[in-house]
Amino acid sequence: MKDYRKKQYYDERWKALRWEVLKRDNFTCSQCGKKKPQEYLHAHHIFYYEGERNVWDYDPIFLVTLCSTCHNDWHRKKENHYLKPIGIRNMAAIR
Ligand SMILES: [Zn+2]
Ligand SMILES: [Zn+2]
Repeated sequence: MKDYRKKQYYDERWKALRWEVLKRDNFTCSQCGKKKPQEYLHAHHIFYYEGERNVWDYDPIFLVTLCSTCHNDWHRKKENHYLKPIGIRNMAAIR
């Protein structure tokens, strides 16, 4: 993870966005479908914009709830993660 992002995950603006995403997803991991206590849940960015952008400056539709297990799995497959902004349109169409 980029260094500037690491710090941002302690910011209140990120915590507010994360909470919104967890609530929307009913505290359920969208990968394994398990409902877990919120301390085991993460709001995962489906993609990051290229260049620097605050982690909270994303529309909630670009975030999904993942449990810590599924989140770790996902990030081991890095190639899925860094999609170019052009992918947004496809992603929006899927939803
Ligand atoms: Zn999971
Ligand atoms: Zn993630």
